[in-house]
Amino acid sequence: MSEIKLSNRFYHGTKEELLEKIKNQLSDFRYKHILGVGQTCYELAKLNGVDPEQAMIAGFVHDYAKEKTDEQFIEKIKEKKLDSYLLNWGNFIWHGVVGAEFIKDELKITDEEILNAVRRHTVGAPEMTTLDQIVYVSDYVEPNRSFPDVEIARSLAYANLKQAVIFETKHTLQFLMSSSSKIYPDAILTYNAFVAEN
Ligand code: GDP
Ligand code: FE
Ligand code: FE
Repeated sequence: MSEIKLSNRFYHGTKEELLEKIKNQLSDFRYKHILGVGQTCYELAKLNGVDPEQAMIAGFVHDYAKEKTDEQFIEKIKEKKLDSYLLNWGNFIWHGVVGAEFIKDELKITDEEILNAVRRHTVGAPEMTTLDQIVYVSDYVEPNRSFPDVEIARSLAYANLKQAVIFETKHTLQFLMSSSSKIYPDAILTYNAFVAEN
């Protein structure tokens, strides 16, 4: 992937400049994660007729805001007049939905398809574009991920993207429920749209 050059269609700078800005925001392990997600997005984009450069950039930036403080997110929610309902939640939901605003403001990436894929990368949405699905699934199966069944999820991702979305949505909800976690309502909407059969 190191040989891939950016075109200027989505980011006004080189890939190295973009990665440097992201690296400055993240711990080493998470920087490694976004490299893995970018690579996986690139591969899944080629397999699914999506612009590989657009997908790779979405993968690189998807967790850009993950290590910002709660105060920074709360300030951004107020500044951008985002739905105040968001204030009831925390980092896990903010880093995607509010993270997209930081990506716009700090990285000057304005492509709404990339920003929406970032917004939807954690809990999905009832209607997801192919790019949304690629980022959602790549986040789950990138090469540094290890959890029971990751190999199943990974081979599904390369064989059939939609089946991988279904697998991920079902297993994430099962995991969250088994640990009595609060479920963000949109996660249920994703479940009903992709997993539920009747
Ligand atoms: P990451 O940013 O690469 O770690 O991955 P994600 O953005 O997909 O998820 C961030 C965290 O949010 C993970 O620990 C998920 O298990 C968790 N998460 C996802 N959906 C929900 C939810 O509905 N409720 C809760 N409490 N946590 C969730
Ligand atoms: Fe994330
Ligand atoms: Fe991630």
